[in-house]
Amino acid sequence: MNRLIADVLIPVAVDIAYSYAVPEHLGVAPGDFVVVPLGRRQAEGIVWDLRRGAADNLKLIQARLDLPPLAEDLRRFIDWVARWTLSPRGMVLRMAIRTPLQAPPEPPRLGVMRAGVLPARMTPARHRVLEALGDGLVLARKELAKKAACSPNVIDGLIDEGTLATTVLVDEPDSVREGISHGPTLEPDQAAAAVELTNQVRRQTFTVTLLEGVTGSGKTEVYFEAVASALETGGHALILLPEIALTAQFLDRFTTRFGERPGEWHSAVGPRRRARTWRAVAEGRIKVVVGARSALFLPFRDLRLIVVDEEHDSAYKQEDGVPYHARDMAVVRGQLSKSAVILASATPSIETRVNAEQGRYGHLRLHARHGGRVLPALSAIDLRKAGPSPGKWISPRLAQAMTETLARGEQSLLFLNRRGYAPLTLCRLCGHRFQCPHCTAWLVEHRFRKALVCHHCGHIEPVPEACPACGGLHHLTACGPGIERVAEEAAELFPNARTLVLSSDLPGGTARMRDELEAVAQGACDIVIGTQLVAKGHNFPLLSLVGVVDADISLANGDPRASERTFQILRQVTGRAGRFETQGQALIQTWQPEHPVIAALLSGDAERFYAEETEQRRRGGLPPFRRLAALIISAKEAAVAERHARALVQAAHAMPPNPAYLLARGAPGPDADGIVLLGPAPAPITVIRARHRFRLLIKAPRGADLQGFIRAVLAAAPPPRGDLRVSVDIDPQSF
Ligand code: ADP
Ligand code: ZN
Repeated sequence: MNRLIADVLIPVAVDIAYSYAVPEHLGVAPGDFVVVPLGRRQAEGIVWDLRRGAADNLKLIQARLDLPPLAEDLRRFIDWVARWTLSPRGMVLRMAIRTPLQAPPEPPRLGVMRAGVLPARMTPARHRVLEALGDGLVLARKELAKKAACSPNVIDGLIDEGTLATTVLVDEPDSVREGISHGPTLEPDQAAAAVELTNQVRRQTFTVTLLEGVTGSGKTEVYFEAVASALETGGHALILLPEIALTAQFLDRFTTRFGERPGEWHSAVGPRRRARTWRAVAEGRIKVVVGARSALFLPFRDLRLIVVDEEHDSAYKQEDGVPYHARDMAVVRGQLSKSAVILASATPSIETRVNAEQGRYGHLRLHARHGGRVLPALSAIDLRKAGPSPGKWISPRLAQAMTETLARGEQSLLFLNRRGYAPLTLCRLCGHRFQCPHCTAWLVEHRFRKALVCHHCGHIEPVPEACPACGGLHHLTACGPGIERVAEEAAELFPNARTLVLSSDLPGGTARMRDELEAVAQGACDIVIGTQLVAKGHNFPLLSLVGVVDADISLANGDPRASERTFQILRQVTGRAGRFETQGQALIQTWQPEHPVIAALLSGDAERFYAEETEQRRRGGLPPFRRLAALIISAKEAAVAERHARALVQAAHAMPPNPAYLLARGAPGPDADGIVLLGPAPAPITVIRARHRFRLLIKAPRGADLQGFIRAVLAAAPPPRGDLRVSVDIDPQSF
């Protein structure tokens, strides 16, 4: 018999949608939330497809949930992300619907505002109510009663008469609707960029554009114009920011411009508020969301614009669960939703630059800082000639500049991308080094916490009095600098200055970090000592000096992205100096001032840096010229992991010839036209949480079906047993 059958995708780690018969009385459509029997329990899921067929052995859908359905474009996006990352579709779905399933959304809250009608009868209480609402204010009934010091009955009376009207409160209970205000008068290159982008939004077709310009050049003002045109044409917009850049400063700026708070989506938003936001987005009541990467999975109804600000930022890569890169997936979502996509950055990724140069993406540039303000004066301090005394990290010249900055009442920032006090602790008597018991990593001393900490697994132990190897007392020595140590030195040099240490391991998480960053902007301290967190998208109006304590640290690791990352981070952090009234100064302490990255930074010649770095990638056969994937094979026993890694290589070589994924024969040179397998080799951090890890790198020509190849290899190899795990990382960020 031909019955209606629903294929229901359930948010668990399975790839297939299970089939259920649809009961006669239940109207369901694709995208609906339903409850189905699963084994002995019930599960919630989404109707992925509807079809007709024989349903004799199928169980019935039990109920439909009162939640807005997932639109077609979002469902296709979930399929796409799953295929791309080789993750089960159910896992990707989970990212999209965990919120509405976990915390049932409360009904929309109503706010009260003035309507046109005049009250038939005026009383003092009524007068206070009308006064409290002023012009255009929307308040929740309870808040209004409090503000007007009257009983809620007074308000209800005015509503019944039509003097007051109710409306759905979008997010904040006291959101003020002041209407859209105009942005500043744009300068010619800003205006040209804005016109191009607003036209793209209006055309409602898929486009991707790189919006490049130094910090302060007005990128935000320009993309706000694009947001405005999405709103004017009745569409919705998403602005993605790295979590740490999602500050109240940014939200206030948005609110001032658009007269309405955007939906907020990041880790500090609690489950109930998230649920409310999710529903409001699905019902089109929230029109703009400002959020961290996971906001990409929100159920927008009519997405016309996606902005990825700071597109180069590594925070866009999710490493756990479903490993995806939100910038790349934003482009995919834009394609499926026919949206304009804007990638904004002062220091774009090589990938995006190459896409722009090869014409796949548009490219708009803003040339100067707004109002002709100049970039900070950059100079290097050669540590070979003018370094600090041994065991110290602040050179005399940097200290001098800090003294002058303090005297002017301005702020200094010391940047060092190393958390804790010292990266290595050893015993001076016997040479014993403190290593993490679970990882191949040294323990990092954190003096504020009086502990040794592993930065990979979080293992923590007290700093011992005596060396565990030789028993020697008081001989433990800190080697190398961490920000706590630099802070100690700064406090010694400037005992009267207010110093503040900022790094991601402060208790209180991102929310606390954002508060601290805002305090810095308000002038709460004189000297900030921070890791890369301080480099990201904040306005520090009082900051006029940036000192890079050790520019060479991140150049030294063996990762081919090291140059790009160092260039980006140093350019961003030095760009923090002198953003507003003053010209800033940046001093870069380095052992190798002639290094191409440092030289490009000092000369400000970003073009040359990009050209050289791009050429290196081309010659090395690295992304974006070739595609890359990493397979991490891990197990408690090293031998088990290694054996399986070898089995995967064998399976790859034994695969029948297939033109879509031809294996390169012989030495894998840069021009090999097939897929190249590298490894297995111990992963860069060989042991994490007591699991031994081996890595296989797979390089493929751009046109090759890399995912298809990996799927075939995994299927051909023996299935992993016991505690053995294989995880796939497409476009790994370190390689
Ligand atoms: P970016 O996003 O490139 O860092 P912003 O858009 O934040 O730059 O601009 C930096 C500052 O300059 C902001 O305070 C912004 O309001 C201001 N600004 C930018 N362009 C103009 C303009 N044309 N007129 C007035 N102020 C502007
Ligand atoms: Zn560890």
